Amino acid sequence: MTTLNQNATASGTEDARGRPDITADVVVIGGGSAGIGVVASLLKRAPDLQITLIEPNDQHYYQPAWTLVGGGAYDARKTVRPMSHVIPRGATWIKAAVVEVLPNGKRLKLSNGKSVAYRNLIVCPGLRLAWEKIEGLEQTLGKNGVTSNYRYDLCAYTWQLVQGLRKGKALFSQPGMPIKCAGAPQKALYLSCDHWQKSGVLQNMQVEFNLAGAALFGVPAFVPPLMKYIEKYQAQLVFGSNLVKVDGPSRTAWFESKDEHGAVIRQAKTFDMLHVVPAQVAPDFIRTSLLADAAGWCEVDPGTLQHSRYPDVFALGDVCSTSNAKTAAAARKQIVVVAENLMAARDNQPMPLRYDGYGSCPLTVEKGKVVLAEFGYGGKLLPTFPLDATVARKSAWFLKARFLPWFYWNGMLKGREWLTKLSKVG
Ligand code: FAD
Repeated sequence: MTTLNQNATASGTEDARGRPDITADVVVIGGGSAGIGVVASLLKRAPDLQITLIEPNDQHYYQPAWTLVGGGAYDARKTVRPMSHVIPRGATWIKAAVVEVLPNGKRLKLSNGKSVAYRNLIVCPGLRLAWEKIEGLEQTLGKNGVTSNYRYDLCAYTWQLVQGLRKGKALFSQPGMPIKCAGAPQKALYLSCDHWQKSGVLQNMQVEFNLAGAALFGVPAFVPPLMKYIEKYQAQLVFGSNLVKVDGPSRTAWFESKDEHGAVIRQAKTFDMLHVVPAQVAPDFIRTSLLADAAGWCEVDPGTLQHSRYPDVFALGDVCSTSNAKTAAAARKQIVVVAENLMAARDNQPMPLRYDGYGSCPLTVEKGKVVLAEFGYGGKLLPTFPLDATVARKSAWFLKARFLPWFYWNGMLKGREWLTKLSKVG
């Protein structure tokens, strides 16, 4: 991996003739799960390919294990590595953020004032957690019993709160879809309740799950086994209830729902612990660009992952307009689709692979057992193993807590394309 010496390039802005500061062949925006994986897979296919990765952060995170950290089953420090250690050798790293995409001119503008011209662009900057949409939340996150497994620095606080509570009221929230790992809000609930049950205090707890939507899980086949755990933990489900405001010091949260006439009503609920999951949106520089669909996501063909209007652009990961579950598991398969299809498109060949919408949500229903939900477009079940996917299993916990983290760092980020069976076009 080379870090670009920015001083060696031309001035900080395009010159009078509109020449870019940096001219690149393949540019990848974002060094997350999708970005690092696709760089590695492209370099496996074409070691001489000139790839420029644009990523502002020093750290790379394995977010799927944050649920385990919040449940006391994983060390948070094992979920982070220096970005410089995960960027594949052979790629050039520009440590900056993209602030504007100009696909008609095949240009990008960066936070450091430089401009980049590309031949091919791969868009994978993930999504943005919109904490600000919940009034008062940002001031109280990480204190007053308010936490979220959606942030590295907070998931250990979740476990601290869970251990400290022996009686009282615990509220869990889930915003409207789409969100990354749609099962993560309820995984926090299950692992908390499992601890309270095993410590003999669950009967002193009032546990409530407020969901903005109308279903416990988007794929109906998984609802009955999950409902069994909701009943086991005596948790109350409140559908159509959206968290809009928090006051940490008074430990009060406000939820909006609609009455039978469709009028919005606001209800205050007190809590001893509040686990929040915020609404999630496309990054602003994508939402406001020509690459966006009406909802702001990067608009791609759901099969080929090529942009619908700009054929030199591909996208993968959470930023995509596709209807799959936004998960690292989805990125694992999308990486191969983009790597194969991009290389074919550069050679003016037909694109060989189609993404089937595969995503996976290992639902940690208790410490030691997981319901391994794997499904594709339209909720079609796509199990990797020939087992009843709706049964909670110890083997699936082992997969989630031991095998997948290892496989992530040593397989997916290194261009080893295990567990990525895909359909060919035609
Ligand atoms: P990310 O991994 O979020 O990476 C995006 C990258 O883009 C970041 O490095 C960021 O710094 C960079 N970036 C952002 N803006 C810019 C910019 N302007 N310019 C340049 N770079 C930029 N998935 C599973 O498969 N299984 C699970 O069990 C699971 N559980 C989860 C639990 C939690 C609590 C969370 C938070 C996530 C979970 N996920 C799970 C989801 C999974 O982590 C994401 O779907 C995955 O990380 C998406 O990869 P990505 O590369 O699209 O985005």
